[in-house]
Amino acid sequence: NMDLSKFVPLTHQAAGHPDLLESEDSGLFAKLTNRKEVEFYSRLNSNVSEDKPLGSGLIDWVPQFMGVLTPGISPDLKSQGAPVAAELEKKASVQPSSDKQYILLENLLFGFSQPSVLDIKLGVKLYDDDATDDKKERLGKVSDSTTSGSLGFRICGMDIKKTRKEVHEKWSDYVTTYQDAHKVEYLKFDKWFGRALDVDSILEGLDLFFHHNELPEELRNIILSNTETRLQLLYNCLLEEEIRVISGSLLIIFENDSARWKKKDNQDSIVFQREIYEDDQEEEDHNDPDDEHLLRENCPLSKLALVDFAHSTFVPGQNYDENLVDGLESLLQQISHLKDNRQI
Ligand code: ADP
Ligand code: MN
Repeated sequence: NMDLSKFVPLTHQAAGHPDLLESEDSGLFAKLTNRKEVEFYSRLNSNVSEDKPLGSGLIDWVPQFMGVLTPGISPDLKSQGAPVAAELEKKASVQPSSDKQYILLENLLFGFSQPSVLDIKLGVKLYDDDATDDKKERLGKVSDSTTSGSLGFRICGMDIKKTRKEVHEKWSDYVTTYQDAHKVEYLKFDKWFGRALDVDSILEGLDLFFHHNELPEELRNIILSNTETRLQLLYNCLLEEEIRVISGSLLIIFENDSARWKKKDNQDSIVFQREIYEDDQEEEDHNDPDDEHLLRENCPLSKLALVDFAHSTFVPGQNYDENLVDGLESLLQQISHLKDNRQI
């Protein structure tokens, strides 16, 4: 019952390739992927221990893995003839089918009404050992000339809700405005924004994400301090994992709709206990509008996740990923600076 014809373009995308999709009920996220990423998620999900406290395993910090879809083989895809599906099928059919799979993940934006989204790439080293020499050279230069090299992390992009206050003119070249389906205006900061930042201006960049909004100070402080706590928990998890994550990203998301904060009495849990999005047997429940409404209302007010495992592997016996962990530690330092001294 899941096929790509039920997917539409993702509304808020902080960075990455175009053609990201979400299901019509916005419960699922889909993107073109490769074998490495599918393998990584599969393996991560096969090692889950039920009795670990919430937040102490890497699995608690990645989107839930729902499976893969291969366009072109689903019969409903053709019969329904949805424009997106037709487009996808066209794209998929020009490529050898093996690698052209969509990975289905939990949509991290589900339940948010006006999310701000930030994508931060971790690590000084940005390329896989099996990359071509060209790619190594190109990505080596990107690292050397940005905060990837100097700080071990880089802002890849962000979508934030537009406010009455103008963004400083020195950043205006990197910003475009768009409207979501409810006519809420957003600012999209492109990849050149994060590449223009340096060790002296990185706090300004982070400050724009966390503080250029119309939320009350109290809520901004909650978001920033919960983000710091989540980063610390994730840091501890990563020390236990024998993995190599090249070019992985942290997604940081928060709600701008103060009505949603109010409804939840400003209670923003550090780690979110997910509802399992089951297949067929729960279909009826999910079609019940009341249940779906509850599911949405219960969703978090802010969250943190590690994503993009297209260049990730498990390396048993080889200890933790220094490139990843050092980048995270450096980001943690900047976040605590930001807590101590506001920029704008
Ligand atoms: P790419 O290979 O294109 O870099 P990523 O996995 O890094 O793909 O994702 C790109 C963008 O898609 C992210 O910046 C984020 O905005 C969005 N995104 C990624 N995963 C999810 C998800 N599970 N739910 C919602 N949005 C996501
Ligand atoms: Mn990415």
